[in-house]
Amino acid sequence: MSLDLLKKELEYVSHKVYQKGYTQATGGNISVRIPGTDHVLIKRSGISLGEVSKEDALIVNMDGEVVEGQGKPSKEIGFHLGIYKVRPDVNAVVHCHPNYSIGYACLGRELPLPTVTARKLLGHVPLADVAPSGSKELAQHVTDVFIQNPGIKITLMKDHGVCSVGPTLEAAYNVVDLAEATAKQSFILTQLRASVESPVTN
Ligand code: 13P
Ligand code: ZN
Repeated sequence: MSLDLLKKELEYVSHKVYQKGYTQATGGNISVRIPGTDHVLIKRSGISLGEVSKEDALIVNMDGEVVEGQGKPSKEIGFHLGIYKVRPDVNAVVHCHPNYSIGYACLGRELPLPTVTARKLLGHVPLADVAPSGSKELAQHVTDVFIQNPGIKITLMKDHGVCSVGPTLEAAYNVVDLAEATAKQSFILTQLRASVESPVTN
């Protein structure tokens, strides 16, 4: 895929994440490897995913230095690059703040997987430790989860959000989509179980 098409795809997926309500305000960041190079396209810091255009996709090298584009790369560049270094099969990373998934992340639990679809397609959704946004500690915690759980597609990030990966941007987006639906279904299930255990009698 050409660089221009890859930038267009980053813009398209950014808008989809925002429009689906999987992040708010200026939260979230998306990156993709540029095939055949040691470079990555990543959203610039501080812009809403709903507003990202091709010009907001910066080219960085594996040391996080900007090779092309205006502005500073996303403050979460540390875990994006950390994941690419330990997972050669991963070509795209999506970090965002979806509500139901964040509920479980704040509880400090792994994501429950009540459906056969979630178990088959997500497998296991562990939890990365909390640390401030953009910190080296957070980058290390998220990267560590991907090292300790080979092959995972997504992790919850305690008190923060989610980070998904895939062979393509579309695949990484679909993992967030399914994980957030699964978190919502788990929440509904919890409510239904409670109502079965304490039925309303009048
Ligand atoms: P950036 O705007 O720097 O990408 O930060 C957004 C975010 O979600 C931080 O965790
Ligand atoms: Zn974030």
